[in-house]
Amino acid sequence: MKNAEISARRDTAISRGVGMQTQIYVARASGSEVWDVEGNRYIDFAAGIAVVNTGHCHPRVMEAVREQTEVFTHTCHQVLPYENYIRLAERLNDRVPGDFAKKTVFVTTGAEAVENAIKIARAATGRPAVIAFGGGFHGRTFMGMSLTGKVAPYKQNFGAMMPDVYHVPFPIELHGTTTEDALDGIGKLFKTDLDPARVAAIILEPVQGEGGFYPAPGDLMRGLRALCDTHGIVLIADEIQTGFARTGHLFAMEGYDVAPDLTTMAKGLAGGLPLAAVTGHAEIMDAAQPGGLGGTYGGNPLGIAAAHAVLDVIDDENLCSRATELGSRLKQRLNEIRERVPEMIDVRGPGFMIAAEFNTADGKAPNPDFANGVRAEALKRGLVLLTCGVYGNVIRFLAPLTIPDAVFAEALDILEASIDAVKGA
Ligand code: PMP
Repeated sequence: MKNAEISARRDTAISRGVGMQTQIYVARASGSEVWDVEGNRYIDFAAGIAVVNTGHCHPRVMEAVREQTEVFTHTCHQVLPYENYIRLAERLNDRVPGDFAKKTVFVTTGAEAVENAIKIARAATGRPAVIAFGGGFHGRTFMGMSLTGKVAPYKQNFGAMMPDVYHVPFPIELHGTTTEDALDGIGKLFKTDLDPARVAAIILEPVQGEGGFYPAPGDLMRGLRALCDTHGIVLIADEIQTGFARTGHLFAMEGYDVAPDLTTMAKGLAGGLPLAAVTGHAEIMDAAQPGGLGGTYGGNPLGIAAAHAVLDVIDDENLCSRATELGSRLKQRLNEIRERVPEMIDVRGPGFMIAAEFNTADGKAPNPDFANGVRAEALKRGLVLLTCGVYGNVIRFLAPLTIPDAVFAEALDILEASIDAVKGA
């Protein structure tokens, strides 16, 4: 089979609404490498968009799933429950940031975790409104899309958004927006548009993912915590992309001195199986009526079994410190390249949630062509990269945290050659 043949079939079979970054049809994947149907090998710096932080088909994750398939694969926890679901909740309640009693609900996708976090915050506060940030990404369901702070392609042509969702600017000093601007924005919103007594929740990513890998400054997080405490608002950290060792911590919020009330998780939680969760303050989590939360597949046994193995692997293989080590090596290399590539205006990110941002050579305008050019060149040379950012001018690096040193070094050489090729073109 050829990639091009499958791709042609894809064009007639699949909605064009499902975007595609490559035309590489996967035959198998292992660790940080992927092989396509034509036998070509790629180094994977996407990790299924920050999902296989523990690597493709980690033997311990595969073994846990295999063992689970041998006993049962689905009973629906609301009908016939199982113990490993409770035990995973206990582990998350213990590990999610926040020095208070916590409870958990399992769902299936990131967007669903976001939906549920908002439902829970609304039930707990009896209030309707939600504040989110420009450039934030929270999913493609109706509330997720409404909370997302980017119009094209996420909101375009999809009609009315959910009511009572308000966006404020996210502080990005590189683009001239400070924490003070962001907090002022909320202050003004409270004066002009929205009574704080109507606000159920403020939601943000500790590091904006799709929006461009911009870390939330510590003073923003502290300011939001204070605002939420003053007005009785639920603070939600969307850790769907930042979670599970990616930022050098199990959760990015461990890098801040304040805790959120609720945390949404998905992606890295189950190392490639569809599992998501909301964990937070026990009394807030209990606000929903029995039957108000859940779903047929929420906390599916295969995902639960995988997640236990993922948590074990993260601890046993010290993947948090590995993330920091890999990230600092990557940053160092990018900063060296930057000295001769003025288009690369910034290199940033905690742990191994690293990005490089590209502008025109005069530094003035976003340069998505450069970022996309590097992505395309790298792909030709066997390295899968992803772009992101409201202007599409950021390359994000999300390799599995288990990547061996030799493969990592090979990837960095390809990256450098790809940037040089675009620079020289
Ligand atoms: N929130 C964040 C921060 C995300 O990065 C994503 C996925 N990119 C989502 C929510 C939505 O998750 P899913 O695609 O699993 O619905």
